[in-house]
Amino acid sequence: SMASPALLMRVVASAYSVAEKAATIVRNVMAAGDLGIVEKTGANDLQTKADRLVQMSICASLSRKFPKVTIIGEEELPADEVTEELIEDGHCEEILKRTCPAQYTGIKEEELVIWVDPLDGTKEYTEGLLDHVTVLIGIAYGGKAIAGVINQPYYNYEAGADAVLGRTIWGVLGIGAFGFQLTEAPPGKHIIVTTRSHSSTLVNDCISALNPDSVIRVGGAGNKIIQLIEGKASAYVFASPGCKKWDTCAPEAILHAVGGKITDIHGNAFQYNKEVKHMNSAGVLASLRNYDYYASRIPNTVKQSLVP
Ligand code: AMP
Ligand code: MG
Ligand code: MG
Repeated sequence: SMASPALLMRVVASAYSVAEKAATIVRNVMAAGDLGIVEKTGANDLQTKADRLVQMSICASLSRKFPKVTIIGEEELPADEVTEELIEDGHCEEILKRTCPAQYTGIKEEELVIWVDPLDGTKEYTEGLLDHVTVLIGIAYGGKAIAGVINQPYYNYEAGADAVLGRTIWGVLGIGAFGFQLTEAPPGKHIIVTTRSHSSTLVNDCISALNPDSVIRVGGAGNKIIQLIEGKASAYVFASPGCKKWDTCAPEAILHAVGGKITDIHGNAFQYNKEVKHMNSAGVLASLRNYDYYASRIPNTVKQSLVP
């Protein structure tokens, strides 16, 4: 049709380009070598110069284009003037050409909430586990995650000099998710992906109760959802508080767009309205295909330890 694209598609198309700019910043800060590490709540809760610059870039770029949208970013930053070199003005033409699902065509700016994790997997970034890092831009409407962009700045970094570094995955409920090869985990195997740097007795007890064939311990919520949609793991299990709404919003939209499911450890859906508390206090449980199997095997003792 000749009508101008729906707001949602314009936001996703812009978020795609904004996330690519973010990835460039993430790589440039690492290449320059001064990470400017700050401890937030402790040694396992870090912020770097990349987290700060990327959040400024994403929030300023999106709010310039969509001034009435609520944008919630992970980092607390001084309300400084953002330099023009951090602003991304572009968008992805391919996304703009896609038809907006009918239920989303009437959305107004003030009804959208964008959850931004400028750098997910910061601990791993500081330790050189660069492919664990993602940039997450999640888009919520009516309290639900409906669209998202995940950029993986160091995708392919161990694949040799000829490989294209970095990729952008995007998805919208009712359209699907793109930028990767959807792959199911090996059938009949229980491969659990979980935290690398935020383990606890409860986290490990919960995983043991699932009798896994193997356990993959990697950083980042975005990275763990990528493990699910690329068939590397069959379930993401994190029986602990610590993960926040900006960690799960974009991953949730992409996982749900391809028929997967993510909830807290009790099976409750996450809410993404702007008033919601940021902490996912009751953990994370996600799977591309066998969600019910894993949900049915979470021990009651684990559930009782995690209050939503
Ligand atoms: P992880 O799987 O440990 O990489 O955690 C996924 C996301 O949740 C990352 O953004 C972490 O920073 C965050 N997270 C999980 N547990 C904690 C915690 N105990 N303290 C701070 N952040 C956490
Ligand atoms: Mg994070
Ligand atoms: Mg972060």
